Amino acid sequence: MQHEIPIATSGPNADSMSEAVNTCIRCGFCLSACPTYDVLQRESDTPRGRIILMKEVLEGSMPAEQAAPHLDACLGCLACEPACPSGVSYRHLLSPYRALVHDRVRTAWPQRLRRWLAAQTLPYSGRFRLAAKLGIMTRSLAKLVPSSLRPMLELLPSELPSRSTLQPSYPALGESVGRVALLAGCAQQVLAPQINDATIAVLTHIGLEVIVPPKQGCCGSLAWHVGDGKRASAFARHNIAAFLAREQTFDAIVTNAAGCGSGMQEYEMILRGTDIETKAAEFASLVHDVSLVVAEHADRLRLRRPPSLRDGESMLRVAYHDACHLANAQGVRLQPRELLCRIPGVELVDVSESHLCCGSAGTYNIDQPEVASELGRRKAKAVLATGAPVVVSGNIGCLTQLQTHLQQSTSAGHPVPRVMHTMEFLRECLDD
Ligand code: SF4
Ligand code: SF4
Repeated sequence: MQHEIPIATSGPNADSMSEAVNTCIRCGFCLSACPTYDVLQRESDTPRGRIILMKEVLEGSMPAEQAAPHLDACLGCLACEPACPSGVSYRHLLSPYRALVHDRVRTAWPQRLRRWLAAQTLPYSGRFRLAAKLGIMTRSLAKLVPSSLRPMLELLPSELPSRSTLQPSYPALGESVGRVALLAGCAQQVLAPQINDATIAVLTHIGLEVIVPPKQGCCGSLAWHVGDGKRASAFARHNIAAFLAREQTFDAIVTNAAGCGSGMQEYEMILRGTDIETKAAEFASLVHDVSLVVAEHADRLRLRRPPSLRDGESMLRVAYHDACHLANAQGVRLQPRELLCRIPGVELVDVSESHLCCGSAGTYNIDQPEVASELGRRKAKAVLATGAPVVVSGNIGCLTQLQTHLQQSTSAGHPVPRVMHTMEFLRECLDD
């Protein structure tokens, strides 16, 4: 059955939104892949249910407010895409839909406050550092903080790592095989600056020159994820200018946070119908996750046994967690695993229910703390069941969520598994 969306009211992405709705045959194969259906057990919180809700709003037969709780509860994890036999491109419906209704839906004040605080701090590393310091200082007084804001405090580490200043460029070690530009990220620079250091060490080790364009900013993914199209467009424009205005050309724009990478790959969608749509498409085609870039040059890696492997131990068990925005949004599943398997003495193990999101999903764990916590607990349990002392992933949001829930779920007297970015683990094993 074909359904027509009134294109004139559906914005510049109307065609792809319409196609996504028309491609859904309502078969329900996506239900078992959807984490929110798993937790909430309601048809309206399934991919199929949400597609129908969005269609009704776009056709004018349902107010956006009525559909909002179910669309807000969607993680945007895209686990529904690989599960769909009909090839529904859910991403081409959800994000533009959220941007279309963003100014029409009035959210409850606790959610508005959390979103406002996240939007005003996370994309700006200076502000976020100050806010995080304040949050850490007041955590012991959590009872005095409004309950709606406590989930934000829970995600903060016990202390912030020291600041790491990036240089504008890093030469390749040995023979140069190319040049890449690095997205430095915003919140990640505050929470885990060692991830950029490790990324640069690995990239230069394999012979890539790394440029860090100095005027770059937040990629805009956090804003795009909650439907704030205006802010997402402004961030996208800023970064396109910062990365492409230089005289140097790059083989790739490298990201080491899956959420940022998938958002930047959607710049064409964010800026569709604007004067720089073509440039946005050119930019998006250059964006690649670091694991993909390193895997292309994997023969140049010189690797040794993990330093945490003690004398007499032959193998270190390492669990790999698929970040949804890497596995589902970018289709990157094999490359990080291949890189880890190259390390002598590493036994790679998968985490059960790997299709289930950990609950991080951009600012979802701030926005929808109950569902996020349930998913975080389940993921921590699955990681602990592997018995691995290390869990590796490619997204700062997942790493933060895993750290929080592993600390809460590990039994007293047992060590909490180390949570590391793929590049951090790889760097530890570089034989320089
Ligand atoms: S699996 Fe695909 S076609 Fe089937 S209901 Fe889900 S989105 Fe629609
Ligand atoms: S994006 Fe994730 S949470 Fe949303 S409908 Fe798809 S599978 Fe479910």
